[in-house]
Amino acid sequence: MNVYRRSIFYSFLFFFLIVVSSCVSSDSSKIPYKIDEAVGVENLMPVVIIGGGPAGLSAALYTARANFKTIVFEGNEPGGQLTKTTYVENWPGVKRMLGKFAVGRVREQAALYGAEFLPDQVVSVDFSEWPFVVQGSSGVQLRAMVVVIGTGATPRYLGVPGEQEYWGAGVTACAICDAPLYKDEEVVVIGGGDAAAEEATQLAAYASKITVLVRKGKMRAAHTMQERLKDYSNIFVKYNVDVQEILGDGELVTGVRLLNNMTGEVSDFKTDGVFLAIGRIPNSQIFENILDLDTVGHINLVGRSQATSISGVFAAGDVANPDYKQAGVAAGDGIKAGLDASRYLTDLGLSDKMARLLEPTFFRDGSSAVEVVELDHISSNDEFKKIIQESKVPVVLDFYTEYCPSCLQMIPKIAQISKKYGENVRVYKVDAEQVFELVQKLSIPKVPYLMGFYKGKLVLESNKEMTDKDLEEFFEKLINKK
Ligand SMILES: Cc1cc2nc3c(=O)[nH]c(=O)nc-3n(C[C@H](O)[C@H](O)[C@H](O)COP(=O)(O)OP(=O)(O)OC[C@H]3O[C@@H](n4cnc5c(N)ncnc54)[C@H](O)[C@@H]3O)c2cc1C
Repeated sequence: MNVYRRSIFYSFLFFFLIVVSSCVSSDSSKIPYKIDEAVGVENLMPVVIIGGGPAGLSAALYTARANFKTIVFEGNEPGGQLTKTTYVENWPGVKRMLGKFAVGRVREQAALYGAEFLPDQVVSVDFSEWPFVVQGSSGVQLRAMVVVIGTGATPRYLGVPGEQEYWGAGVTACAICDAPLYKDEEVVVIGGGDAAAEEATQLAAYASKITVLVRKGKMRAAHTMQERLKDYSNIFVKYNVDVQEILGDGELVTGVRLLNNMTGEVSDFKTDGVFLAIGRIPNSQIFENILDLDTVGHINLVGRSQATSISGVFAAGDVANPDYKQAGVAAGDGIKAGLDASRYLTDLGLSDKMARLLEPTFFRDGSSAVEVVELDHISSNDEFKKIIQESKVPVVLDFYTEYCPSCLQMIPKIAQISKKYGENVRVYKVDAEQVFELVQKLSIPKVPYLMGFYKGKLVLESNKEMTDKDLEEFFEKLINKK
C-alpha cells in the first residue's frame, strides 16, 4: 500500500471508529426496547404519569409541551398534599395563595399543552414488559412508552378523634410550610425524633410557645438536635404523654387531651396548633419488589437524574425525595423527570412521524362526555353585593375551582336541586380563583364551599363535599329559615 492509499485507508478507519463510538456512547444504545415493539399495541400512551401533585403535573407540563401525548392518573387526591393545607406562602412567584389554587394553576398549564387527566388510582404496574402495563382501579389498562411516578407521600397520622376533623384547621404536618401562620400563638409538636426537633426549631421564630410532646421518657432525636432545643427559651419538652384527642370549638383547634402514660392522669392542654412530626410514608407500595426502594420506601434514583432502576421509568417529588419534602422541590424534580422522559422518547425514536404511525392505537378516553348543567356565575365583588342586597328570596353561592373534582361533581347536583325550588331560591356558582377578592372578604378557607344568604345576611354555610342528601337538607333548611 503506498503512502497515499494508506492515508485514505486510515482516514476512513478513523471516521468509522468515530461513528461507531458515538453510537455506542449515545443514550439510545442504552435503551433496551425497540420502538417497533409498540406498533399495534392497543391503549398505547407515549407518557403515563402516575400522580396529580406538583411533581406529576410539572412533569406533564414538560412532556405535553414537548409534544408527547401525555396522560396523568390523578389518584384519590387530585392536586396532592397541597390541597390539604390552606395558604401557601413559599410557592415561588406567589406571595400567598390557597394550596389548591397554586397546584391547580400547574394543572391548567399542563392541560393547555394537551395533557389529559384520569380521575383514577393506579392499582398495579408491570414494568417487565414493554410498552409498560399500567392498571387503574376503574379497570382501564394503559400501555406506556415511558412512566413518570409522582405518587407523593402520606403524613403518618395519630388516628385519634379530632385529627381529621381539624386537619388544615389547626392540625398540620409541615412546620416549614405553616409556621408563619402561627405567629405569637402556642403550638405543640408531636413526636420524639429528629423531625420533631427540627419542626420545633422552625416554629421557634414564630410561635410564642412550642411544646414538644414525647411518648417515651426521652427523645429519639440525635443528641445535638436535643441540645439545640435548649437554646430556645420558647421550646419546652413534655415526656411520657400520649395524645388521646385533638380538641376544638367546631372550627379551629383549641387543645389536646393528654394521657400521662406513667401516672395514668388525663389532662387537657391548651394549644392553637398541632404539628405532627411522626413521619411521612412514601406512596410506593405498588412498586415494591419492582423498583429499587430505600429502607423507608422512597424510590432510589440513578445519579443526578430522575431515572429509576428500570429503564424508561422516572420518579419525582416526595415519593423519591427523602430530604426536601416541599412543593417547589417536587415541581422542580417533576420538571427534571419531564425532561428526562422527553429525551428518552426522542432517543427511542418517537419522532412526529413515528407518533402519527402509532396514533391509531393510542388510548382514547370516552369519560369526558359528562352533561354540564349551567348555573349563573358571580364574577365580581360588586355583583355579589348587589345580588345579596336586592334578592327577595334566599341566595346560594357555590364556591368552586375548575380543578377541584369534588366541586365539579357538586355543580350539576346543585343545579338539579335549584330547579326544584324554581323562583324561590337564586343559586350562583363562584369560581374562587377568579374572584379571589371575594374569597378573602368572606374568609373562604377551601373549596367546595356553600353559603346561604337571606335578606343580606349569611344564614347557612358548609365547608365540605356534599352528597345529594346533604345538598337537599341544605336547601330545605335555607328555605325554612326564610
Ligand atoms: C399540611 C401540609 C402543608 C404543606 N404546606 C406546604 C407549603 O406551604 N409549601 C410547600 O412548599 N410545601 C408544603 N407541603 C409539602 C408539599 O405539599 C409536598 O412536598 C408536595 O405536595 C409533594 O408533591 P408530590 O407531587 O411529590 O406529591 P403529592 O402532593 O403528595 O401528590 C401525590 C399525587 O399522587 C397521587 N397518587 C398517589 N398514589 C397514586 C396511585 N396509586 N395512582 C394514581 N395517583 C396516585 C395522589 O392522588 C396525588 O395526586 C405541605 C404538606 C402538607 C401535608
